[in-house]
Amino acid sequence: MRNELTSFAQSLAADFSVNFGILPVEQIPFCPELRQACAKNVCGNYGKNWMCPPLVGEIDALIARAKQREYALVYNKVFPLEDSFDFEGMMAGQQQFKQDARGIASRARAAFPAPLLLGAGGCEYCQECAARRGEPCASPANAMPSLESYGIQVSTLASLCGLRYVNGQNTVTYFGGILV
Ligand code: SF4
Repeated sequence: MRNELTSFAQSLAADFSVNFGILPVEQIPFCPELRQACAKNVCGNYGKNWMCPPLVGEIDALIARAKQREYALVYNKVFPLEDSFDFEGMMAGQQQFKQDARGIASRARAAFPAPLLLGAGGCEYCQECAARRGEPCASPANAMPSLESYGIQVSTLASLCGLRYVNGQNTVTYFGGILV
């Protein structure tokens, strides 16, 4: 499985300009307390997005689901900013990353049985999450929760798999993961 995942990751690096690292899922230090940060609702998605806490599910169940997989392919992509206050640049980078993550997810679904796909921030597959209207998820097959919603500390994960969490002045870096 590891060789297969490495080949897959190399193709992603070539086609999506991402950096990647691979580690056994058993080495990921899951941290249920991370969800407390989500509960502060700084982003406004708490309880308003099917892929964000608390709607995404109980943390223990999510961690158990992640631990059913053997390896994690972690990828990141670095985007330039005009300066460290370039909020528009950060949002543009995030949108580009989410688009790339959807393309990567599609390839992962074709390559592996039941991959667990985790991204950066709340799911934005729909223009407005159906949770805001009190309706069921409009596209469960394409919905993507974040690494943090599964209790994964991204900075720790990055160092464990040999990726840099911070990539220099005037840049922003986003992370995603594929657990197989
Ligand atoms: S697919 Fe649409 S409805 Fe489902 S979680 Fe994502 S944004 Fe919400």
